[in-house]
Amino acid sequence: MTTPFVALWADGPGSGAFLALPPMDTAFFGVIWSILGLFVGSFLNVCIYRFPEEDLSVFRPARSHCPKCDRQLTWSENIPVLSWLFQRAQCRGCKAPIHWRYPLVELLGCAVFYASWRMAPTGAYGVLIVSSVVLAGLIVATFVDFDRYEIPDQVSIGGMWAAPVASWLVPALHASGPVALSMAAGGQVDSVAALAECFAGMALGGGFLYAVGWIGSKLYGVDAMGFGDVKLMAAGGGFIGVKGVAAALIIAVVVASVFGILNMLRFYHVVRSRQRRRKTVNRGVMDAIRTARIFGRYLPFGPYLALGIGIVLLDWKDVLTLLPFGL
Ligand SMILES: [Zn+2]
Repeated sequence: MTTPFVALWADGPGSGAFLALPPMDTAFFGVIWSILGLFVGSFLNVCIYRFPEEDLSVFRPARSHCPKCDRQLTWSENIPVLSWLFQRAQCRGCKAPIHWRYPLVELLGCAVFYASWRMAPTGAYGVLIVSSVVLAGLIVATFVDFDRYEIPDQVSIGGMWAAPVASWLVPALHASGPVALSMAAGGQVDSVAALAECFAGMALGGGFLYAVGWIGSKLYGVDAMGFGDVKLMAAGGGFIGVKGVAAALIIAVVVASVFGILNMLRFYHVVRSRQRRRKTVNRGVMDAIRTARIFGRYLPFGPYLALGIGIVLLDWKDVLTLLPFGL
C-alpha cells in the first residue's frame, strides 16, 4: 500500500528507508517503536500537567521541575518508568511522593504505540504514525478530563485541524469508509475521497453529540453534554469516518453506562454505611438512592469517547462486525 506520505519517506512499501529504521514488519522495529512510545508517554505527562494551566506551555520551561520543591529534574530522573521505580516513587530532592499515574501514562504511551504497530499493515508508515499520535492525544484528553472535567482544546481543536491534513496525506486511513468508497474510482480511496470521509465523520461525530446536548438541555434544562465532548468527537470522527463514529459512540455509551451505574452503587454504599455509623438507618434507602443519583451522575464522558475512538482506530474491522443492522 503506497500513500503519498510513505512515498515521501520510503523507497517503497516496507523498504525501511523511513528514518533509517529496520523494515516495519520486523520485531526489532516493533521494539524501537514501543520504546519511542514510552518516551512519548513521558511527554504526555507534561501535556496532562501543563495543558490546563494558562501560564504554562509545553515547551517552556523546557525541563521538568518537581512541583513540590521546584528543583529542575536531571536526565536520570526523566527516564520513563525506571526513574520512578529506582527513586521508589519519591522526588530525589524533597522526598515528595510521585504519583503512580506518571509511570502509568508512560506505559500507556508504550502500549498504544505497540498496538498501532501491530495494527498497521506492513509498509503503511502513515497509518502507523497517525494512529500512534491520535491515541497519544486521546490519553491526554482522558486524564485531563478525569482531573478537571474538561478536554483541552490543544487535543480537540488540534485534532480537528490535524484530521483533514492526515486524511489527505494518508488516504489509507479511510480505506473502508463508506463515503470514501462511494467516491473512489475503481475502489481505490484517494486523497479527495479520504478528505470527504474525514469531513463526514467530523460532522456526524460532532453533530450527533451536539444534538444530544441540545435535546438534553431542552428536556432537562441542564447542560447534559459538554462542548469539549462535542469537539473531541468531531476530531475523532475525522480520523475514523462515519462508520467508525457509530461504533465509537456505541462503545462509549455502553462502557460509560456500566461505570455510571457502578459509580452510583458506590455512592449508595457510602451513604448507607454512614447511616449505619450514625444510627440513622431508618432514614432509609430512598435517602441513599437519592444521594447516589445526584452524586453518582457526575462522570466525565470524554474518557469513554476516547476509549471508543481508540478501539475503533486500532481494530475497526472487528469492531464494525459488532454493529447492529450490519452497518
Ligand atoms: Zn521535590
